[in-house]
Amino acid sequence: MSTNNETIAARAEAVIPGGLLSPSRRLGAPIAFARAEGAYLYDADGNRYTDYHCAFGANVLGHRPPAVAAAIAETAENLDLIGAGVLELEVEVAELLVNAIPCAEQVAFCSSGSEATYHALRLARAHTGRKQIIKFQGGYHGWHDYVAMNGQSSRQMIGSYDPMSDGMLFDAARHTAILPYNDAGAVEDYIRKNPGEVAAIIVEPIAHNMGAVIAEKQFLADLRRITSEHGVVLIFDEVITGFRHALGGYQSIVGVTPDLATFGKAATSGYPIGILAGRREIMERVGRTGEGAVFMGGTFNGTPASMAAVKATIGELARPGVYERLFELGAYLRGEIDGIIARHGLKAQAAGFGSVWLVYFFDGAFRDYTDLLRNDNDLDMRFRRALIAGRQVFQPLQLKRLYLSLSHDRAVLDDTLELIDTTMAGLARSVAA
Ligand code: PMP
Repeated sequence: MSTNNETIAARAEAVIPGGLLSPSRRLGAPIAFARAEGAYLYDADGNRYTDYHCAFGANVLGHRPPAVAAAIAETAENLDLIGAGVLELEVEVAELLVNAIPCAEQVAFCSSGSEATYHALRLARAHTGRKQIIKFQGGYHGWHDYVAMNGQSSRQMIGSYDPMSDGMLFDAARHTAILPYNDAGAVEDYIRKNPGEVAAIIVEPIAHNMGAVIAEKQFLADLRRITSEHGVVLIFDEVITGFRHALGGYQSIVGVTPDLATFGKAATSGYPIGILAGRREIMERVGRTGEGAVFMGGTFNGTPASMAAVKATIGELARPGVYERLFELGAYLRGEIDGIIARHGLKAQAAGFGSVWLVYFFDGAFRDYTDLLRNDNDLDMRFRRALIAGRQVFQPLQLKRLYLSLSHDRAVLDDTLELIDTTMAGLARSVAA
């Protein structure tokens, strides 16, 4: 007899391409989730899982945070989508963001991170009258053709034109240069060799999509200097780092202020949102019509449910001690994992930043994508499959980051650490054999 999970997965196969909303939702077994609460997910057969996926990082508060649910319900008593005029709720949220985010003199809303990066790059092109975009190897900035290079670092090589999707325009890929992360010299070189060509540099200030590689402070400071010198727009893609590491984004931690920044994911703790923030001089084109205007339409932009969710999420994240707790949880987990790795004598290390974590299956330092080629992908995948089989949820891809939320606590982590310990013991035995 089939389980409920199997029955639902079979129905999905018939009517949804691949049986999932995207291949990056594949867990390696037919699992149909039916309920989410705090740090846990429950499937259609009543099994409980610990969630380290946190909806691609969106659920920073944990699942179904009461404050967000209450704010959405309260808003729904008076408002649904209006799509005309201005709402006081939109203004309130914009004011909160302008107060919190260093680069934000003005903000604009859309419905996803990809839309925010798309608009940021289009604005940069309009502002500079140039075409070329620089991004960094291993970075992911969304699904659109503007950043048409493969987000999966395994295929994304410097100097290549390798669109991430069939159907993308080669011409868009040709206007995106991929340079090595943490290498300001390469950026300066490229801009000098292509004078007057580069509109924008888009960078994840922590390369979470590469596998949580941290930008050296000097690298970001150099990008700021180089872009100012050459009239290039500096864009921090804070779709992961924003709200997760600080209310003002990673820019508020590192002390480097970009011209534009993009946000999404954790801004609502689980509802559709994209936020574009930046200097008034650039942003104001979104409000123009006619000459020099940049069109940023969208029926669902600023939908009141999402606006209410941003306001409530900021309210929760502004509580004293919240970020200390997220960082402390991450440090505890990494410390315990490193202890386990040392006990079993594996060449591995816990990595990540704050509430974003993963295990690298190599030892020694890392600062760009080429260092990550030392990862033992076989051990990494065996580790991931064992944890998923033990009902921990995250993407089963090597070097893919995992997340924590404010609903995780030491007891939740200790259960997972037991599983990590037995898994690492098994891997160590097989390496020794
Ligand atoms: N930028 C970064 C850094 C991201 O990690 C992502 C999504 N993983 C995006 C942009 C695109 O956001 P979305 O999936 O909401 O379109």
